[in-house]
Amino acid sequence: MQLSKKAGNMSPSITLAITAKANELKSQGVDVVSFGAGEPDFNTPENIIQAAIKAMHDGKTKYTPAGGILELKQTICEKFKNDNDLEYKPSQITISTGGKQCLANAFMAILNPEDEVLIPVPYWVSYPELVKLADGIPVFVETSKENNYKYTISDLEKATTDKTKAILINSPNNPTGTIYHEEELLEIANFAKEHNLLIISDEIYEKLIYDGEKHTSIAALNEDAYERTIVINGVSKTYAMTGWRLGYVAASEKITKLMTSIQSHMTSNVNTIAQYAAIEALNGPIEDLNNMIKEFENRRNFMIYKLEKLNEISIIKPSGAFYIMVNISAYLNTTFREQVINNSVDFAKVLLEEEKVAVIPGMGFGLDDYIRLSYATSMDIIETGIDRISIFLSKIK
Ligand code: PMP
Ligand code: GLU
Repeated sequence: MQLSKKAGNMSPSITLAITAKANELKSQGVDVVSFGAGEPDFNTPENIIQAAIKAMHDGKTKYTPAGGILELKQTICEKFKNDNDLEYKPSQITISTGGKQCLANAFMAILNPEDEVLIPVPYWVSYPELVKLADGIPVFVETSKENNYKYTISDLEKATTDKTKAILINSPNNPTGTIYHEEELLEIANFAKEHNLLIISDEIYEKLIYDGEKHTSIAALNEDAYERTIVINGVSKTYAMTGWRLGYVAASEKITKLMTSIQSHMTSNVNTIAQYAAIEALNGPIEDLNNMIKEFENRRNFMIYKLEKLNEISIIKPSGAFYIMVNISAYLNTTFREQVINNSVDFAKVLLEEEKVAVIPGMGFGLDDYIRLSYATSMDIIETGIDRISIFLSKIK
């Protein structure tokens, strides 16, 4: 029997698969160091946990409207106003099961078969798969190292056709950690206007930025950009709430209606308790968040310091998120104990087997000369893990 061709055409999430593999080995007693996880290692702050407990005791355990409760939507509108200088009404907000469902809803709401979505390389693993799931075509836009792997207008021009429907922007970026500045965003917004394209702006790492950098939402640049942008955000990364599964999206009322209607059949509302917890996350004290950001910045600096000491290795220096892309091209096309290391997947596999260090191969992000390391992990683990990578490098070359 021929099962779904569309489903068969999807690759499973490599980020989740490697994180699960590392955790499985750990549970078997193997001393694995994992740089895989795309999630804060901190627990959810106590005030948020208490808000969830209170919600349960208050009987907030029933269905809510499919797109989320009004009180949370209002809180999200205030967040957009205060943080991003963006005015939305609750009727423009949809609350979904993580940033992932927000993206899935957005692509399903805007794409017709064969519509193309421009995605910069490197990209977060789920974008192309979610576009395909919505019958669209992901079009990978090559970017350059010189421009820190960010789009330029000439990159976009080369990739645009009469089928192009939307441009995806992810700033701060997973996996590079680079940030688009206001003037770059303005050029992209002007380009989108000229070609009548929608913009999907994934801002899930907006608070995790370092070196005094500033986050700008492309939707806030002008009225036209506001109209054509779908902003994706969520509480997973900012409030160490990855397991609670809550993301939110702001868009025009027309697109919001479509997304809510899709969601009403697929999953209904996000877990009701998580919605009440998210109100507390967005309204509550910010000390925990500030401490977490400070700690990530220290870890990033330490990881860079350690990586820079490795032979023939270069990195993309991140200004945000919690990942570092490490160029391993000098170590490709080698063999180790009769295993060929021709690409980043081979490299990650042999590294895990030999030194018990889990990393994400760059191939999953469209940059096969790289591996991605997450620094959402302790200083001790960073120290041990990079030392092991150093030993591995000296063994394979
Ligand atoms: N966008 C990016 C760039 C991400 O790295 C993630 C991490 N999983 C998400 C969206 C979705 O996050 P979540 O579904 O956990 O909210
Ligand atoms: N976004 C994170 C990552 O890139 C979490 C895993 C996932 O959802 O893909 O590692």
